[in-house]
Amino acid sequence: MISLEQILRERFGERLKVQAPLSEWTSFRIGGPADLFVVVESEDELCAAKAAARRANASCFCLGAGTNLLVSDRGMRGLVVHLGEGNKQITIDGARIFAGAAAQFGDLVARAVEQGLEGLEFGEGIPGTVGGGLVMNAGAFGGEIARVVTLVHGVTETGERRALTNDEVKFAYRRTDLPPNFVITRVDFELQPGDREQLQARVAELHEKRAARQPRGVPNAGSIFKNPPGTFAGKLLEGAGLKGTRLGGAAFSDKHANFIVNLGEARAAEVWALIEMARDRVKQQSGVWLEPEVKLVGDW
Ligand SMILES: Cc1cc2nc3c(=O)[nH]c(=O)nc-3n(C[C@H](O)[C@H](O)[C@H](O)COP(=O)(O)OP(=O)(O)OC[C@H]3O[C@@H](n4cnc5c(N)ncnc54)[C@H](O)[C@@H]3O)c2cc1C
Repeated sequence: MISLEQILRERFGERLKVQAPLSEWTSFRIGGPADLFVVVESEDELCAAKAAARRANASCFCLGAGTNLLVSDRGMRGLVVHLGEGNKQITIDGARIFAGAAAQFGDLVARAVEQGLEGLEFGEGIPGTVGGGLVMNAGAFGGEIARVVTLVHGVTETGERRALTNDEVKFAYRRTDLPPNFVITRVDFELQPGDREQLQARVAELHEKRAARQPRGVPNAGSIFKNPPGTFAGKLLEGAGLKGTRLGGAAFSDKHANFIVNLGEARAAEVWALIEMARDRVKQQSGVWLEPEVKLVGDW
């Protein structure tokens, strides 16, 4: 029987990678290999890759910029797809913005501000793609993407193109409830006209706040835990004495306790062990069971 690799090789040639190290594709710089990995440049290519994986009964995972992921040391089975240059376009029409899912979230924020459009300033400094930001309902400083999204375009599990309304996405705190294996290709936003200089000043202020609070220049995946209702995960972790706690190549940052940093050769198993240790300690100390914000993916 013809294998998934052979089918994809016919379509994508040398662009199909076998045993591709995912550590190169995550901000944590952690993660074993993907069995098969391809960067798709159009919706047609995306549909072809998804259809081939479905026929072969293999999983098909869409990787954004990998800034919210902890990929297992064993990597991922099946196919990993990443949207390429063809999905990065950002266009503006009045107060509406249409952004390709592979566009950098930071570029979207910058374009909105430059255009004097209000509503995305909270996103200053949030890394990753528009697609990943949508899936995670990315947010900060009291804002979140959910408030400015009108339509989410993408491809369903069965390869059908669909547009979902804001309600259908079912946004919640750092989560959404999209149809299974839905790959986002474009997101439509509706913003408010604002004062460009005021928006620029707000963005500069948020930039400073981030720089003062978060670890810089060392691989990480942003906040490890979600904030529990009424309090901050960082505060609970610091209170439980976890700041600076190290296991192998991974450690809780000594700048912000809700960040785990990769000090060099950290393995996913070490990060996970730190997560478990922290959850137990915080539970004992304050009775709160922390929920990871970072997504665990792959073969654990
Ligand atoms: C230094 C740092 C600071 C951060 N600060 C914040 C912050 O302030 N607020 C915040 O909310 N987050 C923050 N994050 C986390 C992260 O940047 C966001 O969650 C981001 O939106 C993830 O986007 P991504 O493209 O990297 O997604 P990935 O990490 O690649 O993927 C996340 C999820 O989205 C899915 N996905 C990605 N693209 C698509 C697509 N096109 N279609 C379908 N599914 C897709 C993936 O399958 C996965 O389930 C931070 C991370 C870092 C490293």
